[in-house]
Amino acid sequence: MKAPVLFQQRAPIRVEELEVEPPREGEVSVRMVASGVCHSCLHAADGSWQGIPLPIVLGDEGSGIVETIGPGVRHLKPGDHVVLSWAPTCGRCHYCVIGRPNLCENRQPGKGVLPEGTTRLSLGGKPVYQYGHVATYASRTVVAESSAIPIRPDMPLDRAALIGCSVMTGVGAVINTAAVPPGAGMAVFGVGGVGLNVVQGGALVTAHPLIAVDMRAERLEHARALGATHVVDASRQDPVAAIRSITRRGADYSFAAVGDVRAMAQAIDCLAPGGTAVMIGVPPTGATVPLAIQPMVSQERVVRGSIYGSARTREDFPRLVELYLAGKLRLDDLITRRYSIDEANEGFQDLAAGAVARGLIVF
Ligand SMILES: [Zn+2]
Ligand SMILES: [Zn+2]
Repeated sequence: MKAPVLFQQRAPIRVEELEVEPPREGEVSVRMVASGVCHSCLHAADGSWQGIPLPIVLGDEGSGIVETIGPGVRHLKPGDHVVLSWAPTCGRCHYCVIGRPNLCENRQPGKGVLPEGTTRLSLGGKPVYQYGHVATYASRTVVAESSAIPIRPDMPLDRAALIGCSVMTGVGAVINTAAVPPGAGMAVFGVGGVGLNVVQGGALVTAHPLIAVDMRAERLEHARALGATHVVDASRQDPVAAIRSITRRGADYSFAAVGDVRAMAQAIDCLAPGGTAVMIGVPPTGATVPLAIQPMVSQERVVRGSIYGSARTREDFPRLVELYLAGKLRLDDLITRRYSIDEANEGFQDLAAGAVARGLIVF
């Protein structure tokens, strides 16, 4: 099986022929159809996130078709179309039971293995780790049953791939984490792959005004096309002042969809009294943001995080598919370029240069 492998951070990935072990108890093997090129993988590759197990097959956003099922798999069969989730769920722990399965305790986050504790990929007998449990850049992968979410067979699988990370993370932050009500004023800092989907989520719930903030004009145009009512070019004007002048009282909800600590501080600064700032982007390991406590107390500001758009994957992935098929969720407009598996490095370079909203590796 062919897959691009990261052997060392800050070095290019290399396509290798890997061995794939068959699925074990509660696992399925998936033939991949498409995989998004995600910023989190870029952080893993460029060294801004530490502690990445190596060598590793990256990719946390993808879709495919179930090939074989391991013992004990009850809810999937060969031929099922699935969107992969990088957050497998046990269904039994405290968080799964209270309806917050994105916080499941029985995962092995950051270790590059399946929930069971090992990887199914290897090269010359040595383990190759699976980024986000799923390793979606591999042309074939093995995942936990709870990482493979079945979807309607008439949903185009290439576009469905994006639901597995950037769409779920962005739209979910608005509709699940923050539950933004219609008419609330919303500001989105950073309109790349995830931020565009925060804008899209704001449009779905009719947030107004819906303000996109970025340093690049072409990204702001893209945000406008996806429903932003106002755009602020942070390279030319102070975004906090601009948001205050558009909204008068400040943003009721702000989202930092970028791991830049200055943007995160601005997302808190621009809040209206009673407002909520949602942190989505992940800054380099160890980074901190100063927090002014006085306005937080006197204005009852809320600062919170959102991981994976507070996804309940089995409920949310099919819901997002329905919204796409009904013409209410835009996926086609997000894909700016398609790559073959051998062009994975190019996909990273384009992403690092900010040239693409979403690159898609098509197998
Ligand atoms: Zn991702
Ligand atoms: Zn759990």
